[in-house]
Amino acid sequence: MRAISTESCLNTKNDTFSPEDFLLDLETLVNIDSGRGAPEGGTLMGSILAEPLLKRGWLIERHNLSPNIGECVVLKNRLAERFDALLLGHMDTVFPAGEAAKRPFTRDEERAYGVGVYDMKQGCLALVHTLLALSPEANEALNIAVIFNTDEEISSIYSTPLIKSYAKRSDHAFVLEPSAQEGYHCIERKGILRATFQFAGKACHSGSMFTKDGRSAIAEMAYWIVALSELNNREVGTSVNPGIVKGGKAANIVADFAELTIDVRIKTLDEQDKVLAKLAELGEHARSVGIIVTEVDRRTRPPWVPDERTKRYAEHLRELSLGMGLPFELEPEARGGGSDGNTAANCGAITIDGLGPTGDHAHTVDEYMRIDGVEPSIRFLHAVLEDLAQLKVAQ
Ligand SMILES: [Zn+2]
Repeated sequence: MRAISTESCLNTKNDTFSPEDFLLDLETLVNIDSGRGAPEGGTLMGSILAEPLLKRGWLIERHNLSPNIGECVVLKNRLAERFDALLLGHMDTVFPAGEAAKRPFTRDEERAYGVGVYDMKQGCLALVHTLLALSPEANEALNIAVIFNTDEEISSIYSTPLIKSYAKRSDHAFVLEPSAQEGYHCIERKGILRATFQFAGKACHSGSMFTKDGRSAIAEMAYWIVALSELNNREVGTSVNPGIVKGGKAANIVADFAELTIDVRIKTLDEQDKVLAKLAELGEHARSVGIIVTEVDRRTRPPWVPDERTKRYAEHLRELSLGMGLPFELEPEARGGGSDGNTAANCGAITIDGLGPTGDHAHTVDEYMRIDGVEPSIRFLHAVLEDLAQLKVAQ
C-alpha cells in the first residue's frame, strides 16, 4: 500500500505543483472500499491520511463510534481550547463493499474515475496536501483541527456530536466537499428531514369494511402524502418527496400495514418548524381514525442559512481569489444537498463549503474528478489558511 509522502504536491518554495503525485495517492484511496459494509476500509483510509501529518508532529484522536462505520479521526496541530480553523472531510462513499474491485481507479488526460473519486476522496486528500504545504509561520499562528468522518453519506448519524463539539470551539470551518464546475463555493445549504413511518391499521375483507371495523393503513398513508405535499413551496424552497411507499396484500383486503419514507428539504428554521408542526397534526389525525403510526427512522440536518459574518468572509475570500490567477471566479452559491457544513454553521463557525477539487456526477458510477481542478483547489485553500494566519497575527 502506497503511503502519502510528507511532501505536499504543492511546492510553495518554487511554486510548482505535481498532479502526478496527487493522482498516485488518490489511486490508493479510491481503490479502498469505505462505504456501506466496509468499516475497515474507512479505518484504513483514516490511517493513510493521518500518517504524513503525524510525521510532521500532529496529534491524533481516534473515535470508534459504531461497529457499523470505520474509525473517525481527529487531527490537530496542537492541543488547544479553541481552533481558528476546523477542516472537514468524509471518507465514506455511497457505494457498497466490493465496488472498488469492480470499478478500480482509472484516468485519462483530463479526468480521474473510480469509487468516491469526486465525493469526496479527492477533497480529503487535497486537505492533507494543503496542510503539508502550510508555512511554519501559519502553522505556528493557527490552531487547526481536522475531522475525517466515515458516516457523512448516512447523515453523519454517529459523528455529528463529535463535529459539533469541535465546531462550537472553532472560529471557521472549511468543508472539502467538491466545488462546482465554475468554482462556486457554498455558504448555504438546505436542511434535510428524512423519516420513515409505519402505519398499522386493521385488516378485514374489503366488502365488510364498515361492519368489521376495517381501518386502512394505506388510506391513512395516502392522507399523509397529500397533506405533506401541501407544504411544497417553490418560493421558499421547501420540498417534500414521498420517496418510498410500501403496503397492501390484495385488492380485496383492507390493508393493515403501510410504510412511507419522506425526504423533506427546507431552507429556513421557520419552514422546518412548519414541517414538524404538520407531522404532529398528522399524528393526531392518525390517532383519531384508529391508525397507529410508528416512526422507525429519522435523520435530520438543520438548514444552513449564512449570517452576516459568513457573507462578509465569503466576500473577503472572493477578493483574495481575484489576484491568484485561478481558472474560475469564486462565487458563493446555495445548494440543495446537505453536508457536515450544515452542522458546523449551526454551531456558530463561519463556514465555507465546497472547497474540494471539481468534477461531476456524485453518487453515480459516472462520477469523475477533473485533474486540472486539483491545483486550484489546493492553492486556494492554502491561500485561505495563510491569509487567516496573517489576519490573526495582525490582530
Ligand atoms: Zn460528500
